[in-house]
Amino acid sequence: MDEVVYDLCIVGAGLIGSAAARHATIISPAAKICLIGPKEPVNFAENPERTIFSSHYDEGRLAKTMMPDLLWAMLDNRSISRYEGIQQQTGTRFFTDVGFMMISVKEGHQYTSVMKDMAVKFGKKFDILDKTELTERYDYLSMRPNDEAILELNHAGYVSGRKQVLAQQTAARQQGCDIIDDIINHVTECNQSTVDNVLKLTTHKGHIMRARKVLLTTGAFTSFRHLLPPGKELDVTLYSKTQAFAELTPEDAKRLTDMPTIGRKYTKEGNHDLYMLPPIKYPNGKYYLKIGHGAKLNTVLNTEKEVADWFWTEGHASAHKPLLDMMFDIVKGVKPVSTHGGSCVITTTPTGHVYCDMVTPTLGVAVGGNGHGASAADEIGNMAARMIIAGKWDHDLSPDSFRVKFKNKASSLL
Ligand SMILES: Cc1cc2nc3c(=O)[nH]c(=O)nc-3n(C[C@H](O)[C@H](O)[C@H](O)COP(=O)(O)OP(=O)(O)OC[C@H]3O[C@@H](n4cnc5c(N)ncnc54)[C@H](O)[C@@H]3O)c2cc1C
Repeated sequence: MDEVVYDLCIVGAGLIGSAAARHATIISPAAKICLIGPKEPVNFAENPERTIFSSHYDEGRLAKTMMPDLLWAMLDNRSISRYEGIQQQTGTRFFTDVGFMMISVKEGHQYTSVMKDMAVKFGKKFDILDKTELTERYDYLSMRPNDEAILELNHAGYVSGRKQVLAQQTAARQQGCDIIDDIINHVTECNQSTVDNVLKLTTHKGHIMRARKVLLTTGAFTSFRHLLPPGKELDVTLYSKTQAFAELTPEDAKRLTDMPTIGRKYTKEGNHDLYMLPPIKYPNGKYYLKIGHGAKLNTVLNTEKEVADWFWTEGHASAHKPLLDMMFDIVKGVKPVSTHGGSCVITTTPTGHVYCDMVTPTLGVAVGGNGHGASAADEIGNMAARMIIAGKWDHDLSPDSFRVKFKNKASSLL
């Protein structure tokens, strides 16, 4: 490994990095490309030293075009349109097309009409349901009398984060990408007299790698190792997220089979008040319903230790019951076998959009999923791969929305 000079090294083998690797190997088939990042720990308890994790360790992430933001809707829509091809190429199915339903109050903040506009814009099939119509269609779902639901019917549902990463990496590997299980501790620019300018990457396992270009897709962990040029730190905020899971009996799992993914929004501010995933079979063979929260319960995480410690928890224990109460307020008659919590981290940017930009002529970033990066990862990966290979912006969407922002170190010391 020590002698190879890669044309491109993608650091961070999560959702965006794995998609970028697949696209890069298509865009530049002759290039020598690698994707490097640690695999998911099989057993957290056997990896007590582990501090780098990933936000894709789950089986259910909402995938839909009905987003309140046009750019996210475009990224999602384009990504979703490619899912079937990736699934066919790799034999790994990661998308379940059960539909997406957004519940909100009829009067008040126009949320449903924004969603409706977006559905129309992208030619999506949708229905608008009142309380009676909802229960006629799904006899186990309920909402408040003055609520309405907009149901995105086609090419919407959920993706498995784990299986999407597997599919993207399978395709990338088929197309010649080396996939390396390691962590990068340092990226440094160095001049080599024998070859042109290369970047030196030092790995946690003690290897030195060299690459002509490096793309960082390191999510929440980007600032914690020496990956960016000295003095540069991304302007991102890392938020803790708590989820609650209800284990289902086989009868309940069957009864809820056609349940769509659900979002509910009552407040103007923040994200959804809640989002919910339908019954999903987890690697332990059991079916779970999952619920997560919007901005209200977020807490800010600042250091690698805080983020790593958070990944070892089941989230805020005090949030589990309120979340489950909200779940059973909507999904009726569930007799949970057991319940538990989960934790994860989202990386947000002040722009609300992913950063996809060149930091130096040879180093680029694609970071900042803002809680939406799972379903849109494929198009973000495409955008990032095109950019890093060209060494400049090379995509039909405007680069302005994706420009990286750095923390102003001087002002943060005040
Ligand atoms: C609870 C929760 C629910 C969510 N729900 C949704 C949803 O419903 N829909 C949706 O679209 N999105 C959702 N998201 C967001 C989505 O999961 C993220 O936006 C997405 O994972 C971001 O992808 P990424 O590639 O940027 O980061 P990640 O998927 O976290 O990947 C980053 C990768 O970089 C690796 N890495 C980090 N540092 C290094 C290093 N130094 N060297 C090598 N590798 C490194 C990590 O191991 C990791 O694999 C949710 C997130 C959370 C936490």
